[in-house]
Amino acid sequence: MHERHSVLLRKLLSRTVFDGTCRIWQGALNSDGYGNMSIPVWLREEFGHKYGKVHRVVFFLSTGVIAKELMHTCDRPPCLEMAHLVNGTHKENMHDSMDKGRFPRGSTNGTSRLTEADVQEIRQALAEARASWSGKYLPRGIFPALARRYNVSVYCIRSVHVGEAWRWLAP
Ligand SMILES: [Zn+2]
Repeated sequence: MHERHSVLLRKLLSRTVFDGTCRIWQGALNSDGYGNMSIPVWLREEFGHKYGKVHRVVFFLSTGVIAKELMHTCDRPPCLEMAHLVNGTHKENMHDSMDKGRFPRGSTNGTSRLTEADVQEIRQALAEARASWSGKYLPRGIFPALARRYNVSVYCIRSVHVGEAWRWLAP
């Protein structure tokens, strides 16, 4: 890692506070709740913008990868904890059947491990969890808990949450 990379990474992480295992950014947020920062001149070639999301910068500084679809497994946009950041374009991170654009339709396909009933239950559980948790964020640990309950990956639960893979189902 270049010296200026590690200096910037330390600086960004120093502007967070721990909340459980999450590291919550204390600086400016964009309208979607993501940490927002001015991109240093020496990083603008990589990012192509003057301003950017802090978690994307942290991911780049830590891994050297400009993530195309960076996701939070904790579902908290201002979190900068590397262990909670997953680059959604990495196929190995995704449930087989959740691979974007190539997923099977519902439970009639043998490679699908969640039934439509499961998906509806999971959506219901997520909605209730959100309602009981300030109505804004999902409680920490809800994705891993549901993943264990249904014996699928966290990313599979996440996909249900964002509605990518099962969007043809009525909510
Ligand atoms: Zn987090």
